[in-house]
Amino acid sequence: MNATTPILEVEGIERRFGGLVAVTGVDLRLMPGEIFGLVGPNGSGKTTLTNAITGFYPPNKGRIRLAGEDITGRRPHRIAALGVARTFQNLALFNGLTVLDNIMLGRHIHMRPGVFRTALYWWLARPQEIANRAICEEIIEFLQLEGIRHEMVDGLPIGLKKRVELARALAAEPRLLILDEPMAGMNQEEKEYMARFILDARAERGVSVLLIEHHMDVITGICDRMLALNYGEMIGTGIPREVIKDPRVVEAYIGR
Ligand code: ADP
Repeated sequence: MNATTPILEVEGIERRFGGLVAVTGVDLRLMPGEIFGLVGPNGSGKTTLTNAITGFYPPNKGRIRLAGEDITGRRPHRIAALGVARTFQNLALFNGLTVLDNIMLGRHIHMRPGVFRTALYWWLARPQEIANRAICEEIIEFLQLEGIRHEMVDGLPIGLKKRVELARALAAEPRLLILDEPMAGMNQEEKEYMARFILDARAERGVSVLLIEHHMDVITGICDRMLALNYGEMIGTGIPREVIKDPRVVEAYIGR
């Protein structure tokens, strides 16, 4: 990969569910270090597109490349192991576990289970676990979660839960981070915090970001470029301040 190779390249993606075409003809090129916004009304295909990229619903047509490598149709855990992490619109944290344990789960793709694991615990797995713990502690500090690292996630307010989910995704040390509405349900102050963390994750941890977001102020505030979908099709792509003025984008948002 060189500087001009996109970290993510989606070409002519189509995904159908029975007779329903959920996305079609979608192209996207996300360059290294970019924060790329994905917007569209409910049902426009944003989740389906991210599920195609992450391998949950492989596309019926088109190609997906990660840093130049064709990953079309690969299984989700293989794609994750290549450096793609995601957060979910509906939080996917494990209730009954602490903040730290939830974040540690984000490291599982780096663990090596197997028959020798138990036998070699002190020799192999133990040092790996210590290294994993150190990375998680670093991320806890980065996202300012020190004070609640041993609290159960169950009772946390939504803003903190979203931050723990971001921490868990970052614990995988991804190259590409896909965030599905990370600011849903947040107040203005929490949104600003989250926006700052996303910018810092790019600057300090070198991740590229695909950001699904309904708040247009967030898209124009932190995204370098964006793509707008409606009824599964692209209706605008480019620099946010220009795309949001596109009559088709305005209509999709106001016309519904
Ligand atoms: P968005 O994320 O923009 O709200 P989705 O990708 O969830 O949109 O949905 C796009 C379309 O695909 C919708 O019409 C939705 O009902 C349909 N769809 C999504 N997932 C499935 C599925 N697993 N089975 C059937 N239809 C689905």
